[in-house]
Amino acid sequence: TTLPPADTDARALEVLSRVWGYGGFRDVQADIVRTVVEGQNALVLMPTGGGKSLCYQVPSLLRPGTGIVVSPLIALMKDQVDALRQFGVRAAFLNSSLSAPEVREVEAALLAGELDMLYVAPERLLLPRTLELLERAPVALFAIDEAHCVSQWGHDFRPEYGQLGVLPRRFPDIPRVALTATADDRTRADILNVLELRGAAQFISSFDRPNIQYRVANKEGPKTQLLDFIHAEHRGDAGIVYCLSRKSVEQTAQWLAAQGIDAVPYHAGLSPRERNHAQDRFLNDEGVVVVATVAFGMGIDKPNVRFVAHLDLPKSMEGYYQETGRAGRDGLPSTAWMVYGLADVVNVKRMLSQSDAPEDVKRVEAAKLDALLTYCEASGCRRQLLLAYFGEERNEPCGNCDICLNPPKVRDATREAQMALSAAIRTGNNPRNMHFGAAHLTDVLLGQPTEKVVSMGHHLLPTFGVGKGHDEKMWRGLIRQLVSLGHLAAGEHYGLSATGKSRALLKGETTLMLREDSLVPREKVRKRDR
Ligand code: ADP
Ligand code: ZN
Repeated sequence: TTLPPADTDARALEVLSRVWGYGGFRDVQADIVRTVVEGQNALVLMPTGGGKSLCYQVPSLLRPGTGIVVSPLIALMKDQVDALRQFGVRAAFLNSSLSAPEVREVEAALLAGELDMLYVAPERLLLPRTLELLERAPVALFAIDEAHCVSQWGHDFRPEYGQLGVLPRRFPDIPRVALTATADDRTRADILNVLELRGAAQFISSFDRPNIQYRVANKEGPKTQLLDFIHAEHRGDAGIVYCLSRKSVEQTAQWLAAQGIDAVPYHAGLSPRERNHAQDRFLNDEGVVVVATVAFGMGIDKPNVRFVAHLDLPKSMEGYYQETGRAGRDGLPSTAWMVYGLADVVNVKRMLSQSDAPEDVKRVEAAKLDALLTYCEASGCRRQLLLAYFGEERNEPCGNCDICLNPPKVRDATREAQMALSAAIRTGNNPRNMHFGAAHLTDVLLGQPTEKVVSMGHHLLPTFGVGKGHDEKMWRGLIRQLVSLGHLAAGEHYGLSATGKSRALLKGETTLMLREDSLVPREKVRKRDR
């Protein structure tokens, strides 16, 4: 049945206020709800916290039958369903946590038309038993949450999601709404393909989070840098600190606590009780700082997180955007702060190349990491880069990132880059084809006759001491940028070798613009500069 738009809108508003007690829809929500209620397919791209849930919850209540929500977040299903039930919505879920009698109960309720909404894990949905059940049940719509999981290009590929093409094939007449907070062009194309949404209405919200200030600094003593940052700008604020390993989570949390910060650790190695406790404290107490691995945050809805700090590099721009996006959902000024250094770049690149993922997946991941490294090494507005990655052009620099607030000096450092590359090549030119790390290359460039330098005979190289005009910090920074930009590659024991890409630089066919961040401490961005 097609209803006149005005009528649909009025009914949607009525449900929104009666069930949820909200006064109105946010910008695009009303358009999306109207489209889905009227039986059309839709693709919804909206940043985290934008309000995607209502876009399928309200239509599920307005259309006859049950709204089926496909979600990979099994751990959150029960909470989501409980929350809906509190609003009087007849909701249930089907996943592996239910016993056989419980499953039968839910299935009976679905067939009897007694459910407004049913949350289903993808692997459960794909079972022949479930698909047959759905064919006999009154289905209002399919909502595919976290739809980027269909894409290998996405950072969260789930094989079961790749099989969701079964929905358009077996249920061609039931509207599908795919929702995600992360989708670059390729992911978006994959979603449209797999779910057969070509011709569907597309609702693409801006990914800009203007209240978040983006900052990236050189890692020089991460714990102290973090403490200084918290003391200077976020004393007593709630925040999330991301670390790569469980061990560094534990150590950082302990250290912060010893410095008087109310910090709690969170990672997958803790017991469920400990994790719940950390989560409860974070949600309910004032000013708790959670130190966590990426395991923390999915589905956490705390509006007043004032900062997100990365002590280690995220895996991709999507990861970075999603993790930093947990700051400032209330719209108030917040900070996304990150430190990174050469060792991080080398580590993540190595982890990537050593993983047993298929080659094409590795290539995709390498490209994603490179995008993130370009962001880290940026000498122009970070927000412009971040948004461009998600396909959003923005002409003006933002005025609220470290680069805009404190523009780094950039200068042509082609000559110095050639020196560093030549040091890598000449030191690597030995019978065992052994390559050396940044510290050794720096010693050679500075003309330091260390024991290792002398024992390798590197004090006799023409490159020895050619870099005396600069200090160690500048060389470390330059070498980091060369690795990040792919001119140097790290191999065994952190040994660095020149790549094919570096040839043009060595020949002077391309130039290297260097950010002089190694000379100017970039930590000096202060709020008064705004
Ligand atoms: P997303 O799934 O896009 O991350 P949610 O659907 O969880 O976002 O919504 C984020 C928050 O915004 C929730 O607390 C939700 O209740 C609130 N919200 C969404 N839409 C509205 C609205 N129209 N009016 C008031 N609050 C809303
Ligand atoms: Zn900017």
